[in-house]
Amino acid sequence: MNTTIKREQLETPNGEKKLLLHSCCAPCSGELMEALVASNIQFSIFFYNPNIHPKHEYEIRKNENIRYAQKMNIPFIDADYDTSNWFARVKGLEFAPEKGERCTACFDMRFERTALFAHENGYKLITSSLGLSRWKDFNQINGCGVRAAKRYPDMVYWTYNWRKKGGGDRMYDISKREEFYQQEYCGCVYSLRDTNLARIKKGQGRIEMGQKFYGVNDGNGAI
Ligand code: SF4
Repeated sequence: MNTTIKREQLETPNGEKKLLLHSCCAPCSGELMEALVASNIQFSIFFYNPNIHPKHEYEIRKNENIRYAQKMNIPFIDADYDTSNWFARVKGLEFAPEKGERCTACFDMRFERTALFAHENGYKLITSSLGLSRWKDFNQINGCGVRAAKRYPDMVYWTYNWRKKGGGDRMYDISKREEFYQQEYCGCVYSLRDTNLARIKKGQGRIEMGQKFYGVNDGNGAI
């Protein structure tokens, strides 16, 4: 870990001693992982992202996250890839725009499973790396997280803004240092479709999955 990065000392809500961190991908969770380690907060990573399509892309993103969790010696929980439930959950919302209703359903599903696992395994505090990305609506994510945590007594979703105080920039620095895989669309088949359509309109080629890595052949950091 790069010990030259200056960080604030984080304090968990209610002084909770352990945290379940829902992770969407290695680039976003890398910054959260390093921030949590620097503040001596005990945590495990919960990888539950049945939205990611196709399976090959899912495996690449997951394996990058496992690689870094192993490097940092952080427990990694590999949850279901229950895609049929995900497609059922977003049925009728196939053409909703990003940051719209489909994304709310997608976050709800991922956080509900995170909260359930937390409840069954003695965690009172959950959060997610999803809030770090500048492509996401931070308030939408926090709303979904808070709603999921409310399903269980005494559970809290930590609404900390991981982007502030340089978190967004550090995400790119860490991603380059670790040469993480750089995904080029949010994750689901509909975001893949819409991103490709936008690229074609701009005269760019379609996304080539599995090709880009930060610090190796990265571009504008489109995650
Ligand atoms: S665009 Fe992203 S957040 Fe929205 S439904 Fe697709 S995968 Fe989920």
